[in-house]
Amino acid sequence: MPVETATENLTPQEREQRGEQLKRDGIVIRTYDLWKTYIMGDQEIHAVSGVDVQIKRGEYVAIMGPSGSGKSTLMNLIGCLDTPTKGLYYLNGKLASDMEDDELARIRNKEIGFIFQTFNLLARASALQNVELPLIYAGIASSERSNRAREALRSVDLEQRMYHKPNELSGGQRQRVAIARALVNRPSILLADEPTGALDTHTGDEIMTLFARLHEQGNTIVLVTHEQDIAMHADRIIHIRDGKVERDEQVRSPALPLP
Ligand code: ADP
Ligand code: MG
Repeated sequence: MPVETATENLTPQEREQRGEQLKRDGIVIRTYDLWKTYIMGDQEIHAVSGVDVQIKRGEYVAIMGPSGSGKSTLMNLIGCLDTPTKGLYYLNGKLASDMEDDELARIRNKEIGFIFQTFNLLARASALQNVELPLIYAGIASSERSNRAREALRSVDLEQRMYHKPNELSGGQRQRVAIARALVNRPSILLADEPTGALDTHTGDEIMTLFARLHEQGNTIVLVTHEQDIAMHADRIIHIRDGKVERDEQVRSPALPLP
């Protein structure tokens, strides 16, 4: 991928035009020389140091690297949970690296479905209520909320369990509730951080099979993992080391775009 330089010197109008071009080209994630630097006492830690990545709509990409390589920091930037120290980040054509917290929260709710290692479900709420939650934040009316949450639970084969609470579900079922919650807003990307990390091998395989199906249905998936076995489920692996892209590898030909 050619790395365009001097993006920092673009005028606001040029930045906006670049975003529009990215959107026309179906590029949902584009970073230009992205940095995140932490100051610890008199030490600077470059957790992400000069990352240029481009991810197109419909891709299935794994971000892989050893512990401490900067995966979570990069995922937090991509997921608009954090802002970069330097560089540009376009999410679905919008310049997220320039946004203030409230605008970031809005774009995050709209564009990103998060899936975490530890599921992060509300313990006292049913599967259905957990999946409805993002729709409440999005201001969707109650009846439509319920319909869409059921539909999302159906897409992960859990409609039969919609009135169960998390402690009445297995680990794999809990993660499927979390995946339904991530899907329910119809986000531009599903962003999963070690989604099988808390599951046994068999259940983890079932979750990876589900991701494959969601990808076939047209979802864009970005998966963060330190495990080669898990990364191999994706079509493309971006290897991260010391905050830098070490290698960007297409392991499988990407699925044809849906008509
Ligand atoms: P990974 O997810 O690949 O294990 P991280 O992104 O969590 O890596 O961390 C990358 C580097 O940045 C590590 O050296 C880590 O210690 C450092 N780091 C992460 N978060 C912070 C923080 N909030 N403050 C200071 N250093 C941090
Ligand atoms: Mg991490």
